[in-house]
Amino acid sequence: MVQELQIFQQHLSKTGRKVTQERIEIAKAFLSTEGHITADELLQKLQRSGVAVGRATLYRTLAVLCEAGLAVKRQFDEGTARYERLYGHKRHDHLVCTRCGKIIEFESPLIERVQQEVFLAHDFLAHSRRVELYGLCKECRE
Ligand SMILES: [Zn+2]
Ligand SMILES: [Zn+2]
Repeated sequence: MVQELQIFQQHLSKTGRKVTQERIEIAKAFLSTEGHITADELLQKLQRSGVAVGRATLYRTLAVLCEAGLAVKRQFDEGTARYERLYGHKRHDHLVCTRCGKIIEFESPLIERVQQEVFLAHDFLAHSRRVELYGLCKECRE
């Protein structure tokens, strides 16, 4: 996380923003989170640890984390944006349970290959890609 915080601070300075304690606290809370978190969940996490931050600052800071390549914003079917760490995080796809909202990460070289074939077949230059599969997890089926 030290390296990520450095990148964050450098990005703030580079883009003419101030390195404030509030932004650092938000970045720390986010960077110590695994998985896929909503802005509200992050706000609650900060509140639980006694850090008071404004919602607007939280959203702006999450946007800066995305800009800096440290986070990625994902929109699953539920409609609420979720953020996940990007730095040092292997490329992966998601299985999303439509009942409990659980998100499972998976990697499949086969899916990667199929996508390459589809791009080639359609002479398509892809700049981003994502696979999300929706269904019910094991617990929700029982
Ligand atoms: Zn489920
Ligand atoms: Zn993920």
